[in-house]
Formats: sequence, structure tokens, C-alpha cells
Amino acid sequence: MQVQDISREQSAQLFDKAKNYFPGGVNSPVRAFKSVYGTPLFIERGDKAHLWDADGNEFIDYCCSWGPLILGHNNPHIREAVESQLGKGLSFGAPTRLENELAELILSNNRYIDKIRFVSSGTEAVMSAIRLARGYTQRDKIVKFEGCYHGHSDSLLVKAGSGLVTFGETSSAGVPKTFADETIVIALHDREALQQVFKDFKDQIAAVIIEGVPANNGLLIQDREYIHFLRDITKTNGSLLIFDEVITGFRLGFEGAAHHYGIQPDILTYGKIIGGGMPVGAYGASQEIMGHISPDGVVYQAGTLSGNPVAMAAGIAALSILAQPGFYEKLEQTTLAFVENLRAFIDKNQLEVQIFTIGSIFWFAFTAQQKIQRADQIDPASMERYKIMHRELLNRGIYFGPSGYEVGFISAAHTAEDLETTLIAIKESLLIACS
Ligand SMILES: *Cc1c(COP(=O)(O)O)cnc(C)c1O
Repeated sequence: MQVQDISREQSAQLFDKAKNYFPGGVNSPVRAFKSVYGTPLFIERGDKAHLWDADGNEFIDYCCSWGPLILGHNNPHIREAVESQLGKGLSFGAPTRLENELAELILSNNRYIDKIRFVSSGTEAVMSAIRLARGYTQRDKIVKFEGCYHGHSDSLLVKAGSGLVTFGETSSAGVPKTFADETIVIALHDREALQQVFKDFKDQIAAVIIEGVPANNGLLIQDREYIHFLRDITKTNGSLLIFDEVITGFRLGFEGAAHHYGIQPDILTYGKIIGGGMPVGAYGASQEIMGHISPDGVVYQAGTLSGNPVAMAAGIAALSILAQPGFYEKLEQTTLAFVENLRAFIDKNQLEVQIFTIGSIFWFAFTAQQKIQRADQIDPASMERYKIMHRELLNRGIYFGPSGYEVGFISAAHTAEDLETTLIAIKESLLIACS
């Protein structure tokens, strides 16, 4: 069924202006709609699972601000918590009761960390975790996996080339080669590669870092055995295992991917959901490891706006809801029913597309492969189909992230009616994208 393109007059005008102010017209690159059709939509407001843009178009949102909005937009509990803090001041640069409250809520419901430090973004959380791992082990090298995103700090903006073990090659200009050399990048789900790294760099590796579930380059769900293998090999070699749970923390469950896989990582990082929509990140570990952080220890890390009271208030309100029994079970059931409905449609119409899902995360892959667990298994040419689907969905009032490598999220604010409307739109869009 053909539908008309949405009007983007206001958004296009705003984007033209923005291009004078910001590189590429945006303050974070993927927002620029470079890998989908059209210009970015400028958002005016959101409520529950819905978004409205500058042209008055309404959408059901599955990007959810890239993950943080597990309770949807404009949640009344979060809004009231923020509003009641506003009258008391925005920032003090001194401790507040609110930081204790959020920490208590997290630590008493998360068996994987004893102590936590709040920062203001996921990037900062991971960057600090890497420094802590290096300070703790007194080793310099870190191992990361191709396709895992850990924010934009120097050590982690390194991608892999091909081959068994690839030395760091900067994927961003401006990262000194000497920094990149300390980052070893290997493919996910490849045991031999990791064994080789530990042989080649014996006693030099501070940490292996992995996303709880890699979800920044498609959704690359690893086998449980592989995650346990990671835990074992790092322990054997005196290296730390860092679980970057910036997406999976408070998404797969209150205890994130660590609990999903039943392992104890050495350092965990959080972001996105933890601030209820405000800028918050955090890292946590055992008493012993966290004892190395300043002012107790010698690993320095600080922040003028860390533990910001308004952000803490939003985090407390959000996480209090997530900690209630049954929250995650319900969200997961909703997501699975949604995905199963689409899978049946895909089978019936013999479309070449898979939907991968875990918790309330889902990802469309335009491929015949039943499993994708490594970045190099994604065919870049398949993104053309995503591009078409993305356009068709926008035209039908459904907002997905503007890149086929990005996952979608279902929030607790998505109603049965929202999901029903979305299923119809996705089915129509898939038929067009796959034709
Ligand atoms: C988003 C993300 C980050 C970076 O968080 P920012 O808040 O964007 O700095 C780090 N790690 C993972 C796994 C992420 O998804």
C-alpha cells in the first residue's frame, strides 16, 4: 500500500539553521539521518510512547532516546520528582541525600556491585572503569570486541581489521596511535582469538571489556557458554572482566546482563536508563576494587556535575518503578508476543528478514542467516532494505532509530493499541522493503 511522505517543512528549516551552528547540524552524529531517507525530524514533545515533531506529525517511538526511556516519555512519577527538586536548586557540588537514596536503591537490588560512583554519561562511566582496571591491575592493555561500542573515549574508539588478532587501528581521527596500540580488538564469539591474545600479551592485559549484550552494531546475542568462557579466561590470566551494561543495565532486568548470564564481572558500567532520562552514568565493583578510586585510592576520577540532584531525583523515581516485582517479566512478554507475531508474518510471506530479541530489545536483520553473533556477519548491503523500511515506517507514524545497526526498544508505556498499530505498519513496510 502506497502512503504519502510525511511533511518535513519545519524540521527541514530547523535543520538548515542547525547546520550553521553544529557540525552536520547535530550534537551527536547518528541523529543526522545520514543512513536513512530524508532530513532529521526535530522533536517538539513526547508523551508515553508517542512523539510529536515540529511539523505536528505524531509517531509511536521505538528509539526511546536510544534506550533510556524504558518508562516512555513524560512519566508522571519522574516528572513530579524532577519538579519537586527544581525549587531546591539545580546543582551544589556537594553531597546530597539523593545520591545516597539512588545508591541504596541500586546496591540493595544488585548483588554484582558493592560500591558505585555516579558520573554524567555512559562514556564517562566506561572511561573511568578502564582507568580503574588499569590502576588496579597495573597493566595497560585492554581487549575489546569488534562491533562493541563503549562511548567515545580514546581507548575505546578503536575498531578491528580482519585477521585473528588485530592491533588497534584508530577508527576516529585524533586518537594517537600510541593510545590505540594499547587496545586490542578481536571478533566476538571467537575463543581462539582470545586465547591467542592472552598468549601474545601475557601479564599485560588489564581488562577485557564487552557489552552485556552487544547492541550497538545490530543485536549480537552471544552464547551463554562464551560469556562464561570470558569470565574464566580473564580470571585465569589475572585480568578484569568489565561488563558495559550502559544499554543492558536496568533493561534486561534490574541486575542487567550479569544476572541474565549468571556471572560476576569485576567492574560494571551503567548509563541510559539509570538517570530516568537525565544525564547519569555510573560504574560499580566490589569494595576492594572500588577502594582504588580517589579519594580512598590512587585512581583519580571526578565530576563537577556528578550526582546532580535533579538527575538523581529522576533516577530514583525511574528505578523505584523498575524495582517492583514483575516489571521486567511483563515487558519481556509483551516484546516476545510482538516479535512472534511478526515472525509468523515473515514466515508466511517467506521474507528474508530475521528479528533478534532479548528482554525488551529487538533488531531487524535483512538476511537469511538464523544467527548473527559477530559484526562481520552483517552484510552492509542489507542496510538498503532497512532504509526503505525506515522511510515507510515514518510515513505510517512509527519512529525507529535512523540506522539499521541500531536496535529498537519497547517501553512500559507502549499500549496494546500502540503495538497493534505498529504491527500493521511494520508488516506493510516489510513487504515494500523486501520486494
Ligand atoms: C550508549 C552507550 C555508551 C555511551 O554512553 P553515552 O551516555 O552516550 O556516553 C557506552 N556503552 C554502551 C554499551 C552504550 O550503549
